[in-house]
Amino acid sequence: MKRHITPWLLSGLALASSAVWAGKAHEHGVVKLDVAVEGNKLTIVMAAPLDNLLGFERAPRTDAERKAAADVLARLRSPDKGAPLFGADAGAGCTLGKAEVVAPVLEPGAKADAKDGHADLDATYEFACASPAQLSTLNLGLFEAYQRIKRIEVQVVGPKGQAKTTLRRPASSVKLVR
Ligand SMILES: [Zn+2]
Repeated sequence: MKRHITPWLLSGLALASSAVWAGKAHEHGVVKLDVAVEGNKLTIVMAAPLDNLLGFERAPRTDAERKAAADVLARLRSPDKGAPLFGADAGAGCTLGKAEVVAPVLEPGAKADAKDGHADLDATYEFACASPAQLSTLNLGLFEAYQRIKRIEVQVVGPKGQAKTTLRRPASSVKLVR
């Protein structure tokens, strides 16, 4: 029997990702990833406390902090430059289309700090894959790139259903197909 991803599942995923941390204290050291495979599209939505990536969660105050913040944004906006942060199977031929990184407190001219002293970075990546049938594993370079990340909570939604998994160092790969 052929199974599909039902629309409510996808919209539920989108809702869950955008509301992951809304109104709740986040947990330092934990990154949340929603990974979806649909047709030839691989979508990754990441929500991370800024502390994990930068060591602080407010607008940068010194030149060194401004440089660190700019480096984090540049790295995450080009996740496939250098060691890939998100590496799908080579045979799947995935190329990065959209990379959207949102971290309001790091924007130039951002108003001081978030009210509760915490701030997140949210990122959305869309890859187009020439041979999506070859997708089986996603390798994450996040632990390597960011020492403060302790745990990555992953939810995968694909043609065969959904699965949740938690990665702890040194694990770095997520199964896309069971
Ligand atoms: Zn925080």
